[in-house]
Amino acid sequence: MKDFVPVEEARALILDRLAPQPSERVPLADLAGRMLAAPVVSREAIPPFDNSAMDGFAVRVEDLGTLPAVLRVTEEIPAGRHPQRRVEAGACARIMTGAPFPEGADAVAPVEWTEPGAEGTVRFLKAPAPGQHVRRAGRDVQQGAVVVEAGAVVTPPVVGVLAMLGYAEADAAVPPRVAVLSTGDELVDPAATPGPGQIRDSNGPSLAAQARHAGAAVLPPFRARDDEAALRAALKEALEADVLLFSGGVSVGDYDLVRQVLDAMGMERVFWRVRQRPGKPLAYGTLRGRHVFGLPGNPVSSAMCFEQYVRPALAALLGRREVLRPRHTAHLAEPLAKKAGLYHFVRGVAAVTEEGRLQVRATGDQASNLYTSVLRANCIIHLPEALEDPPAGTAVEIEWLRW
Ligand code: AMP
Ligand code: MG
Repeated sequence: MKDFVPVEEARALILDRLAPQPSERVPLADLAGRMLAAPVVSREAIPPFDNSAMDGFAVRVEDLGTLPAVLRVTEEIPAGRHPQRRVEAGACARIMTGAPFPEGADAVAPVEWTEPGAEGTVRFLKAPAPGQHVRRAGRDVQQGAVVVEAGAVVTPPVVGVLAMLGYAEADAAVPPRVAVLSTGDELVDPAATPGPGQIRDSNGPSLAAQARHAGAAVLPPFRARDDEAALRAALKEALEADVLLFSGGVSVGDYDLVRQVLDAMGMERVFWRVRQRPGKPLAYGTLRGRHVFGLPGNPVSSAMCFEQYVRPALAALLGRREVLRPRHTAHLAEPLAKKAGLYHFVRGVAAVTEEGRLQVRATGDQASNLYTSVLRANCIIHLPEALEDPPAGTAVEIEWLRW
């Protein structure tokens, strides 16, 4: 087992051990938010046929060389009906938006450019350019094109394009199952009134919410006291999951207990302790094909360790193309106090200044028990190990916290 590893190494040690989940067929109505297991390839062109962009008249532009011009209306083409005849010289067809464009014509004159003529005719005051107001087949999507890559999240527009292309279902990664095990003699249910020295288990519900947001299926919560039998019993049931998140019990004094139980069950310890703040006592290992995270109990550490390690792990299990959130460069609005030696994840609030610069400041006190620093943050500021007391104006990387 590795001890006290750098942040990037810890992440790599985890990601190296992850393989994408199998996939399943999911109906279109349930696909939003899921991860596509295969690319979306268009079987057809979009639009599928040339059609009108306006309500107006399908014309031959050469017939409108001298204006005003009068043409015979030989057909009316509403949306949803195929044209019955060619547009010949001196003629035009009344056409509606989205209706198939008839042969012979080469442009659409919007109805606003015309006046009613004598019986069966229309008068044109203005002529379209060739091709104007005609939506050509395949202009949006060509047949055979990869429209969405595998590993993309199904957003509402992805649902739209799947529907356009006639995919009533698609293959999506089976969501990894996550078990959250809150450990600690001091913990009570959020619905309970804590006794002397007790606190409510907040990591359990918040980790479950984070996991769900990251695309996992979360098992009902587990809570165990700091004793071997209780831990063992909870763990036994939690092994139904693909990913086990222990909250608490990894700091120096406590770690022995969780570790003892996990060791006894055959866990391969991969690392314990990461060169970071918050969340130094983070532990990770594998147990019978499951991924086991020992997250520090401090609510800030718990939330940050989830975002930095568990979220990418779930993304990798889901076969997501982007495992890490993108980072952006921002400038510190105020100096930050930091010693060299640990990587810091600072909860920040970033905003664009009047001059158009992306500026960021910390959400006040960064002590790992002050949870409102997470609540108020809109980003995480990344401060690498070597950085020391960065002054105001320092360029730093930030990661937007989009929950
Ligand atoms: P531990 O990692 O178990 O040493 O816990 C570190 C700190 O986090 C202690 O103050 C605990 O009371 C607190 N803590 C541990 N588990 C939870 C939890 N599930 N919800 C809220 N606070 C917790
Ligand atoms: Mg504890």
